[in-house]
Amino acid sequence: MKVTEHIEKANGKPLFSVEILPPLKGQNVGCTFKTLDPLVEMKPAFIDVTYHREEYIYKQKENGLLKQYQVRKRPGTVAICAAIQNHYKIDAIPHLICGGFTKEDTEDALIDLNFLGIDNVLVLRGDPIKTEKTFASEPGGHSYASELIEQINGLNHGNYLDDELQETQNMDFCIGIAGYPEKHFESPNLAMDLYYLKKKVELGADYIVTQMFFDNQKYFDFVKKCREMDINIPIIPGIKPLTTFGHLTSIPKNFYIDLPETLAMEVLKAKDKEAIKQIGLEWCINQCKELLEFGVPGLHFYTMSNSSNTQKVANALF
Ligand code: FAD
Repeated sequence: MKVTEHIEKANGKPLFSVEILPPLKGQNVGCTFKTLDPLVEMKPAFIDVTYHREEYIYKQKENGLLKQYQVRKRPGTVAICAAIQNHYKIDAIPHLICGGFTKEDTEDALIDLNFLGIDNVLVLRGDPIKTEKTFASEPGGHSYASELIEQINGLNHGNYLDDELQETQNMDFCIGIAGYPEKHFESPNLAMDLYYLKKKVELGADYIVTQMFFDNQKYFDFVKKCREMDINIPIIPGIKPLTTFGHLTSIPKNFYIDLPETLAMEVLKAKDKEAIKQIGLEWCINQCKELLEFGVPGLHFYTMSNSSNTQKVANALF
């Protein structure tokens, strides 16, 4: 079932959903099920699976020179989605990115998803790979999520890259996109980011999932601005509890968001690791309670494949 259908069917009752990472190369599907088992007890409406591009690592050869190797630490997004749907009968949503894909690769991936009965995709541009300063598309690939949406929407109308194909079947993907209450890091300002967000909606996006945030006011302002611009699709807040001292620096660095002063100060003053975790979980629970009062369509948890923190928050809410 599509995410939009889940929202409609819930009739105002907020959905609980989670995002996980595919297993590390070398692990098996059992590792993913182990993460998901406790979360599935809370009946998530859908489970997102992130997409991870190749990375480049350098290893020293016997002659002392460095050799570059390409590695993909977490392949298998599409297959793990199919395994999740098959095992739990819960909708799994693969993240589909522009980076590393030609249009032909994208079409092939969408054909696989269609055959597997997966009818939701979260459409993203993807970040630059670690060795690149700026995002570079594949020759013959897409530069922005909006272009990828156009291709998917084309397939939803039976338009394949080979325009000589006859009597093609329409695909029927529900298209999710990313939104940034604190703006995307490359965007010169929020207004311009929202201009491109609206473009993605006009091209066929069905719902938005936000980047994580720790100050609800940022989400409320974002939703208000979206509505003023006639962006009327559901905006699902993305949530992650802060649970370690390291998060104080890694979250702003990796996700380009601010942490509220009060939260950061409480963490600084905490006496040990357990106290920090408690502060972060309580902050997250209060944040979610306020979002639920506001009337969000759902709460989408970035689990980073650690189920216990999400479980603690969700237990206090649902
Ligand atoms: P876009 O919508 O293409 O926007 C990228 C930037 O370009 C923005 O600054 C935008 O304002 C600007 N822009 C957009 N269109 C145009 C245009 N036509 N001309 C000029 N500028 C334009 N990354 C992964 O690699 N794998 C994942 O699984 C993954 N999952 C994510 C899930 C969520 C919910 C979120 C919020 C992010 C996720 N990301 C993931 C990260 C994401 O790929 C990055 O944030 C990426 O840098 C931007 O992706 P986007 O889809 O928002 O890009």
